[in-house]
Amino acid sequence: MWEIDKTFEFCYGHRVHTQTLNGEFADSLKCACRHLHGHEGKLQVHLTGDDLNESGMVTDFRHLEWLKKFINEFNDHQFVIDINDPLFGRLVGVDLPLIDVVVPGTTHKVGSIVDVNGIPGLTGPEYECLEGFLIIDFVPTSEKLSQWMAGIVDAKMSQLGVKVSKIEWWETPKSRSTYFNKYSN
Ligand code: ZN
Repeated sequence: MWEIDKTFEFCYGHRVHTQTLNGEFADSLKCACRHLHGHEGKLQVHLTGDDLNESGMVTDFRHLEWLKKFINEFNDHQFVIDINDPLFGRLVGVDLPLIDVVVPGTTHKVGSIVDVNGIPGLTGPEYECLEGFLIIDFVPTSEKLSQWMAGIVDAKMSQLGVKVSKIEWWETPKSRSTYFNKYSN
């Protein structure tokens, strides 16, 4: 059995609006993860195979170039926000036209962006602000983001018969969530 992995680095912002802390374990009760803040993130995608293809590979590393493009467009320098965040209306706005974000080449929806070109008269800073959001429907903790990314990679790579074994989502160089896909058993 083989496993290959590829690393992607990008910057993103988020807010964990559900954070709570236990004062006996944390050094303060200040829930800084509820602040608007950003990370220099790192993603490690692990792919596995029981057999190698005719090229002697699990799959070509270049078969993850679509993911680099996806991350550049929807994650890098974007603010990931939960549509259920109590501040969603204030930070993004309600009743705005949205565009589905799907896994490339599939109909698998994984989020939304604001249709900034569909809002008449939207220009300048307002345009730039709204084009900077990636809207999802879960709290964007590193745990949930690693699970979310597993679904994205799986939806695409399953077309090649390649399985995702795990996804590592590094929020900081010292803080990582690993999501183990069902295939890893
Ligand atoms: Zn954070």
